[in-house]
Amino acid sequence: KPVGEITADMIDMLSKKSFPLCMQQLHQALKSNHHLRHGGRQQYGLFLKGIGLSLEEAMKFWRGEFMKIMDSDQFDKRHSYNIRHNYGKEGKKTDYTPYGCLKIITTNAPAVGDFHGCPFKHSDADLLRQKVAGLGIARDGVDQVMQYAKGGHYQVACARVFELLHGSLGGIEDMEVSIHHPNQYFEESYKRLYK
Ligand code: SF4
Repeated sequence: KPVGEITADMIDMLSKKSFPLCMQQLHQALKSNHHLRHGGRQQYGLFLKGIGLSLEEAMKFWRGEFMKIMDSDQFDKRHSYNIRHNYGKEGKKTDYTPYGCLKIITTNAPAVGDFHGCPFKHSDADLLRQKVAGLGIARDGVDQVMQYAKGGHYQVACARVFELLHGSLGGIEDMEVSIHHPNQYFEESYKRLYK
């Protein structure tokens, strides 16, 4: 996808239907708190880079939220560097890649007050049920998703959510499909809804 196709003002709309649950959770936390801790900023920031948000648009996006609780100087001091860093413009100039599901599921588990991680793995069952139902999935579907999550099949649970909302991911019969990357979830959804 060409960088620049996705702009800061599209993110809110895209988040509702095309972001996997982990990124919806980060987006909502950012919108309500105008803040995310480091783990969340990294997971979400790199995902947004992966969907095609340019550095310039990323600055606009983060600035728009963070400046509801801090001034421009504070934003520049605390956050500009990190955002530029993620885009390979500072420090070692590494072009960082978005985190895959396995990394999100197995490393850096969220603590209280964190919103990063994988909800299928890290949210408790009642909260997860509420979140999945909140996507507009009917009872039967929610039960299926919860079964997968309970059995430790987090990425299959995520794929099930995708299919309940978008239709088949095109798996082979009798084989369970799974999501391996949040950006894969986004691309499959974007393709179906906007192309
Ligand atoms: Fe995000 Fe992957 Fe978990 Fe889905 S399975 S919520 S894409 S980390």
